[in-house]
Amino acid sequence: MKVDKPMIFLTPELAKRLGVYFQTAAPFEISGLGEVVVKDRECLSVEKLFLFEQRVDEVKTKLSDAAMHKWLVEIIRSGGNPVNTRLWWHSHGYGSLFWSQEDEKTIRGFLADWMVSLLGNAQGEMIARLDIYKPIRITIHDLPIRIDYTLDPQSLAEIQKEVEQKMRRISHPRRKKPEVFIGTGKRIGSGSKGGRPRVQRDLTVDLGEMEFVE
Ligand SMILES: [Zn+2]
Repeated sequence: MKVDKPMIFLTPELAKRLGVYFQTAAPFEISGLGEVVVKDRECLSVEKLFLFEQRVDEVKTKLSDAAMHKWLVEIIRSGGNPVNTRLWWHSHGYGSLFWSQEDEKTIRGFLADWMVSLLGNAQGEMIARLDIYKPIRITIHDLPIRIDYTLDPQSLAEIQKEVEQKMRRISHPRRKKPEVFIGTGKRIGSGSKGGRPRVQRDLTVDLGEMEFVE
């Protein structure tokens, strides 16, 4: 039986934020956590990113325990649920993307039922994996990463309304071979020198003047 991999969805804002984190930190690694919500069986949606104080070098990052603790207190205080913290993200500076021994150790250490890990670099490349810890231990590599362009209902309605207002269907009589004239195509000054009529030079494309010739 073929089982499709779940996809990781990122909003354009979060994807850009990650990209800027990776580029700004390079050549050093940078890492953080984030919230993942299961939208359906095929879609894991990244909802938030958290960045902590950290000590870094080119090959590893270390999240400070104090910073993590502070974040945990803040998230609980603000009514958030740390259980949704299912994302570990980090970069390899300008380096290539592979799960290092250090990464595997970090991923093994998560105390969760499942966890998404996302790895990127300053060149804008990204890979993701899903690790399930209970009831069985399994790793699904190379999850597809998609940018979620879904709009909020108000923006969607506004854009649809604008398109409806500005689009007019052109009605045509029955046509055979269509020929499109761009601009008026009218000759200006019928009696020009040398017998060659001058043609209007700055032709503009005007849908209102497009016509089909029978
Ligand atoms: Zn790594």
